[in-house]
This record gives sequence, structure tokens and C-alpha cells, in this order.
Amino acid sequence: MSRMIVVSNRVQVSGSDAGGAQGGLAVALSAALREHQGLWFGWSGERTDTFSGHIDFRREQGVTTATIDLEDQDIEEYYDGYANRTLWPLFHYRIDLAEYERDFAGGYARVNARFADTLRPLLETDDVVWVQDYHLLLVGAELRRRGCRNRIGFFLHIPWPPKRLLSTLPGADALVRAMFAYDVIGFHTREWLESFREYAVLELGAVPVGNGGLAIGDTTVELLVAPIGIETADFKAAVEGSIARAAFRQMQESANGRAMIIGVDRLDYSKGLEERFAGYERFLRDCPDQRKSVFLLQIAPPSRATVESYRRIRATLDGLSGRINGAYADVDWVPLRYVNRGYPREVLAGFYRAARIGLVTPLRDGMNLVAKEYVAAQDPDDPGVLILSRFAGAAAQLSDAVLVNPYSAEELSDAIGRALSMRRAERIRRWRALMAVVEREDVIWWRRRCTEALLGTQAAAEEIREP
Ligand code: ADP
Repeated sequence: MSRMIVVSNRVQVSGSDAGGAQGGLAVALSAALREHQGLWFGWSGERTDTFSGHIDFRREQGVTTATIDLEDQDIEEYYDGYANRTLWPLFHYRIDLAEYERDFAGGYARVNARFADTLRPLLETDDVVWVQDYHLLLVGAELRRRGCRNRIGFFLHIPWPPKRLLSTLPGADALVRAMFAYDVIGFHTREWLESFREYAVLELGAVPVGNGGLAIGDTTVELLVAPIGIETADFKAAVEGSIARAAFRQMQESANGRAMIIGVDRLDYSKGLEERFAGYERFLRDCPDQRKSVFLLQIAPPSRATVESYRRIRATLDGLSGRINGAYADVDWVPLRYVNRGYPREVLAGFYRAARIGLVTPLRDGMNLVAKEYVAAQDPDDPGVLILSRFAGAAAQLSDAVLVNPYSAEELSDAIGRALSMRRAERIRRWRALMAVVEREDVIWWRRRCTEALLGTQAAAEEIREP
């Protein structure tokens, strides 16, 4: 059995009791590595005056980690810059927010090379390397330059933008060309995969080969659709645990017979929070008779506070929530409970269960795990309704949710009304169909699908043909 070397920007081993806003990736990779031999390599999150290439090895909660420190300039240009101010907005279709600076691109290339430099000596002949996400698009090419002949896979956890948007990025051709250093590239949905393919074919002259792969000259890359799932079994167990039950009871008491709508998101412009608030406001305006029988709990811990666009969205939401509560609150009712903090997973599980509606309305999202967690937390005999943006990767799998266009306040308002009045039989029918997917295509399924493709086994090759 080959060792698995996972490479990602941050190495955040996550136990089931971890609190705060964990990215979906941290939860998924910890689950994957716990069952696997190998190593998790990445940035420590720490700063150093001068980059030394020193590697800090640790063993945390059953996972071996190897981390490096980065310089201030690295963090500014690679992480805050190219990753979070260039690629993140661009890949979420927000070219209006994307910042194109040569220093960012330079810092990004430098840090990707530093990752490859420090990782290369750790690699043994049979290791397979699995690089994660948009921070490290160039690591595969940098490893190849250093003579690495191991199988190297890449997984993108965010959307891949359409060709016309990606064309606005200076150096886009070179970036995509470099990704042909990977043996396999995985995406959450066929839509993201097709956008990648279209760019490679039309802009770089790549040609289709084999099982839906692509070739430029004699370099080929396989493309894989593998939607990430949650730890469904663990999550179901957590919902039955004492912490979740206490959170559920606390929320039920405080709801006092009113139907709760829940939103749980990192505070990010891609999550459609402004539009969600506007849709809810529209519902309050249009349905005066239902007003006092609902409330929206929006949990949104701040993230990436060093980036200006994140400070702006926070200020905007503070204003909007104040306006909504100012216009509609009464002495015995507040329509919007807007909370800027994270909660432990078990507590969230209890909150999800207490919610009649899960409102998950990103403008664009690679996957969205909150939607799946909401489904997994429901009471099978009396489940709530998932309202899901059709622009989340999860919508490709969760077609039995009430799917909405998150840009339309009217559609959001209608969906809330429809979910509130939905009969139990329909709720149960929809939930069963959703839960079947969340159970079948969980994080273990995702990891297996990816690792089989990475190891080049037959099973995966067959799956690649059937999206
Ligand atoms: P992203 O990775 O973009 O943040 P996902 O929905 O895919 O979005 O994953 C978010 C993960 O972070 C989920 O597992 C969710 O439970 C967790 N999370 C989000 N917000 C909070 C919060 N306020 N408190 C605790 N966990 C959170």
C-alpha cells in the first residue's frame, strides 16, 4: 500500500469536538487521513523572519503532520493576495472583486515552489501525492521540475470559472498549462470540470483522450467528478448525543413555538448573505400574517478580516440586520437573530434539528457542506425543509431540496412561504431522497473515489466514465 501525502495550505487536524468555523476541507481531510498511512504537509499558519525550510513534524489526533513557517511577504502576496484577493473572487465568478497584481502572482509562484522544495526530500518512490485546492495549483508542476515522478493528484474545492471569466486573469494560460503536471484533477461537479475542459481545449489546444481525460503533447491528465460529502455516520451520532440534545432543547424553548429558519456560513461574499437577508425581508413584508410565527437565526463567524471586501460585507450585513429588526421587531419578537461567532459541531447539529427550514443560498459555492449537515441532522419522522441555491455544487446531488435562484428576493420569499406550509408527507418524501444521497455519498465515499483515481485502479477508471 502506497503512502498518501496530502498537501494543503493549512494543516488543521480536526477532531469531532473542535469548535469554530472549520472549513469543510479540514473536516473532510482529517477524516480521510485518520484512516490512512501517510502525512499531511502544509503551512503552519506561523510567520518566520527568513524562510528556512525547517519542517515541524507532529502527531495530532491520529494524523502525522509536517508544517513549514512562511515569511510576512509570502503571507501577504501568496495567501492574502493571490489566493484570497485574486483566485477566490475570480473562481466564485466575482471578477468585480478580483485584484490582479504582479506581486501577488510572483509571491504565489514563490510559495508554491517553496512547498515543492521542502516536500520533495520527504517523498519515497511509491508515495502518492494529493494536493488540495486553489492555494497550490502550481505545486504539481514545481514537483515535476524537481524530478518527482510519483503519481500526483489535485482536488479543487471551489468552483472552476467559465472560460470568459478566467480569460481576464493575467497568466491564466500558464496556470492552466501547469496543471497538466497532475495525473488526476478532481472537481465537485461536472459543471466545474467542463469549464476547465473548455478552457484547456479552446485556449490551449488540449485534445480529449481515454476516459474523458485531456492531453497537450504527450502530457495527459485525467479529470474526475467527486462531490465531497460529510462524515454522515458521525454526524448522525452527534445529533443523538447529549450536547446536541441540550442545544436542541435550548433552541426550542427560545423559539417558543415559532418556526426557526437557520443559516450557517462563514462570513463571505460568496455565501449570498446580503441577498438572503433581502429575501427574508421580502417575506416579512409580503406575508404580514406569518411574520410573528417565524424567525431567522443566521450564524456567520467573520473570516479573512484582513481583506477589505470582507470588512465591507460585514459592515453591510450589520446595516441590513439593523434595518430589518428596526422595521419589524416588536417587544416580544425579533425577526432576525444575527450571530457573528462559531459553535461546536454538536451544538450546530442540535440547532439544525430545531430548524424548520435550512436556508443555504450561496451565490456560488464549490460544494457547501452545511446543506448536507442540515439534512443529516433532521428528525426522520418530522424533518425540516432544505432551501438550497441552484448555484451551490451541492445542488447537483440534492435535487430534492427546494432549489432557488439566490439573486431573486421574490424567489427566496416564495420558497420560505412554501417550505413553511409544506405538508409532513412531502417533507418526509423529500428528506428521504436527500438523506439517501448524504448517506451514500459521504466523505468516505469521496475519499475512496479520489484515492482510487489517484492510484490508477480500475474501479476508479470505470467511475470516471460515469459522472
Ligand atoms: P466553506 O468551506 O466555504 O466554509 P462549507 O459549507 O463547505 O463552506 O463548509 C463549512 C463548514 O464549516 C461546515 O462543516 C460547517 O458546519 C462549518 N461552519 C460554518 N459556519 C460555522 C459556525 N458558525 N460555527 C461552526 N462551524 C461552522
